Amino acid sequence: MRAATAALASPLMEIVFLGTGCPVVSTERYGPAQLVLGQGAKVLVDCGSGVTQRLLAAGAPGRDLDALLLTHLHSDHLVDLYQLIVSSWHQGRDRPLPIYGPPGTRRYVEGLMALWEPELSLRIAHEKRPSIEALKIAVTEIAAGQSLSLGGLAVQVVEVDHQPVRHAFGFVFEEKGERLVLSGDTRRCAALVAAARGADLLVHEVFIHREMPVIPGVRSAETVASVASYHTLSDEVGKIAAEAGVKALALTHFVPPACDRAALLAEVAADFGGALILAEDLLRIDLTARRVAYGSAVLALGGGDVTAVSR
Ligand SMILES: [Zn+2]
Ligand SMILES: [Zn+2]
Repeated sequence: MRAATAALASPLMEIVFLGTGCPVVSTERYGPAQLVLGQGAKVLVDCGSGVTQRLLAAGAPGRDLDALLLTHLHSDHLVDLYQLIVSSWHQGRDRPLPIYGPPGTRRYVEGLMALWEPELSLRIAHEKRPSIEALKIAVTEIAAGQSLSLGGLAVQVVEVDHQPVRHAFGFVFEEKGERLVLSGDTRRCAALVAAARGADLLVHEVFIHREMPVIPGVRSAETVASVASYHTLSDEVGKIAAEAGVKALALTHFVPPACDRAALLAEVAADFGGALILAEDLLRIDLTARRVAYGSAVLALGGGDVTAVSR
């Protein structure tokens, strides 16, 4: 009985969408962040605006994270890093947070900590907490093709195409035959399609062109074209999932955050016949149990085999 409870509490592979938005401020879709759970490990991918509140709501405070993975160094993906570090410490974290990110991550993290050093020194001296280990950040810069083991969870780093951003990664998580692929920010990219081939779930960003009109004083036609050029359009993403032959596709990083969901679903479903999910903040997909949970609703993901469900 005890073992069964523990197994339920530690799914073999689950993703929790913490923030499904982009740099555009939204009260519904916070900045990009997702939590991947596997074999007891908790890995945070990106830490956009509002991530610490969402982690708490997801029942996984920053204190408990095994690692932070960064897809790239665009502000929407890492703007809450300092808040994550300090709030994790306040929650009683007593070990450093390992951060894995592209070249430039060490410079960014060292600069961030240097910027806050006077504030942090004052806090440490004044608050007299039992440990300051949580404030000793361990950065590892990663490269495409690299394999990582984060808290026992196997991760493969894939180079994606988000030019002019020089280093942008997608990630492949693999656990006991379950394969979860995260696109990060990318335009249509052959390396990602190859990495995602046959995956149980592809989590992909999306840019919805018709929802991004020119607004005088806010964005020009050139702005829209430039931003669209390093993202994946809504009429491409279903084709990518179909080409990769993935079993399920979940869309996130909605640009813009507010969109006609039914129209988007119909557009993508025209190209991709597998399970299709438009992610929301705090939606969870459990690949082992093959179910999707959002609020109090639980849906069967379908497409699983009997051995996967009964394991
Ligand atoms: Zn982004
Ligand atoms: Zn980006």
